[in-house]
Amino acid sequence: MGNVILARMGEVTLKGLNRGNFETQLKHNLKWRLRGFGKLDIYQSQSRIWIEPKEEDNPNFADGEAAQDIMKAVTQVFGIVSVSFAVKFEGDFEVIRKEAVEYTRVLLQEHPEYKTFKVEARRGDKSFPMDSREISAEAGGDIIEAFPQLSAKMKDPDFILNIEVRDFNYVYSGKIMAHRGLPVGTAGKGMLLLSGGIDSPVAGYMMASRGMPLECVYFHSHPYTSDQAKDKVIELARIVSGFSGTLKLHIVNFTEIQLDMVRNSPQDMITITMRRVMLQIAERLAQQNNCKCLITGESLGQVASQTLEAINVTNEVVKMPILRPLIGLDKQDTCDISRRIGAFETSILPYEDCCTIFVAKHPKTHPTKDDVINAEKNINIPNMIELGLKDVETIVI
Ligand code: ATP
Ligand code: MG
Repeated sequence: MGNVILARMGEVTLKGLNRGNFETQLKHNLKWRLRGFGKLDIYQSQSRIWIEPKEEDNPNFADGEAAQDIMKAVTQVFGIVSVSFAVKFEGDFEVIRKEAVEYTRVLLQEHPEYKTFKVEARRGDKSFPMDSREISAEAGGDIIEAFPQLSAKMKDPDFILNIEVRDFNYVYSGKIMAHRGLPVGTAGKGMLLLSGGIDSPVAGYMMASRGMPLECVYFHSHPYTSDQAKDKVIELARIVSGFSGTLKLHIVNFTEIQLDMVRNSPQDMITITMRRVMLQIAERLAQQNNCKCLITGESLGQVASQTLEAINVTNEVVKMPILRPLIGLDKQDTCDISRRIGAFETSILPYEDCCTIFVAKHPKTHPTKDDVINAEKNINIPNMIELGLKDVETIVI
């Protein structure tokens, strides 16, 4: 009857009374994420979601190879734990055993090195006259008969052939792991402070994985930071949006503000003063756009502005919660996630960041309240905030 994609749900299935809302959101997100892959039927049975083409000649379902792109898109939808490419058909056990052999024939063409296998059958339709053990044993016997080079192995076989008997029958082998999490849209929206570095895109990805839609704000100091630096941030926002769904990127012109600070703030406090103003501008943008929190890529102790003292004096200027999902992560772990989501290569492009241009050689690592008061005494902070909010470019990604 054709090829289909099987997507397994994860944490969503642990939800109690709300489960329906989570599932509806998940299917909605799948529909949106897969909108470029032709007309699709997306339906659910128990903890599985089946995706199949409405039109027979959809090239994305031609075979496992052709389905790679759509499968990858499915893995990026939070709420899905794993994905398989399956053949769907109708019929009794005589049909099933033939399909199992045929599926194995194609699989062995791609993987002539396979020598051992096992069959795992599941019976969703309990009225089916054989139980799952009988199905596995019979189909496994047929496969060995057809391909004498294969032998059955229960532990660590080269491949597992899955047979599912439900309202229809399905045969598939192998699965790719997805990004898990909860469907985006099941939590309130967050405003991510997105720089061109490694950390903030990962922070955005992590919060989106808990169901949070995102908007982003980037502080740009043209011409001290180049157009390439801005393009890099736009590209990172695009990568994050592959997981979070469509988002708005607000680009704040930060040049005047930064120059004012360089002139009027002690060298060793510029980073802190700058970050305090950034957060206040971000909070205002968040309020204007219905976001309920701010998100940063800070990690405790990673740089001078991320000591507990520095975090305290930057935290105190805003009322909204600031979520810092990387706070306890090792840099190596953050880099691993960055690679997994495809952001790393872009993040390490060598374009300067507005924070790296004016930073002091020896920033204060343990700023006190008095340090902050002193650092800001010659700066009109409310003016700086208004200045920042006056010149915002918003891009929909
Ligand atoms: P990243 O790798 O995300 O750039 P970092 O290790 O360079 O982080 P900092 O420069 O201290 O650390 O920045 C800490 C956080 O502040 C960033 O993760 C980001 O959330 C935010 N931030 C820093 N600079 C900017 C900027 N120019 N625009 C928007 N947010 C920024
Ligand atoms: Mg940075």
